Amino acid sequence: MIYTTHIFFAYFFSLLLLELIAPNLQLDVKIKLSIVAMIASLFPDLDHPQSFISRGNWAILSAITTSVTEHRGATHTLLGALVFTFGAAIGFIVFNATIIYIFAFFFGYMTHLFADLLTITKIKLLHPFSNKKYGLGIIRTGSDAEFWLQRFLIAGVIVILWHSVAR
Ligand SMILES: [Zn+2]
Repeated sequence: MIYTTHIFFAYFFSLLLLELIAPNLQLDVKIKLSIVAMIASLFPDLDHPQSFISRGNWAILSAITTSVTEHRGATHTLLGALVFTFGAAIGFIVFNATIIYIFAFFFGYMTHLFADLLTITKIKLLHPFSNKKYGLGIIRTGSDAEFWLQRFLIAGVIVILWHSVAR
């Protein structure tokens, strides 16, 4: 998936989750949490030197990541999600953020893996505990189907925000 799809995927599903589990949370807090999730959703693709996140300020982290794993390897696993969340947690604790932001990071990271599960190239979600490749194989990266998915996600975000403001 391209990075904008991951961002919209994380935005939609984090807002949806917050609507379901914490509907009365203030809208600005919901948006801050979903921004953390959106940023986190870019981290798994640090394993690709040409990805959006690798070309930005995180180039050094990307260089380290690509030296230890191939694309759609270790960062595209549940263990990878936990390792990066642990790293992010240290940052959140240093900046005195509440623990809920650590969950938002983990959730956003996981939305990337779920989005990639829709693609043709499968991922070894449970590596190194299992080499089984998971994936539904229904969307090709950069295809029309992916852009339709983006449109649905954007529409979903608008509906949730509308619902949240109107309540
Ligand atoms: Zn990916």
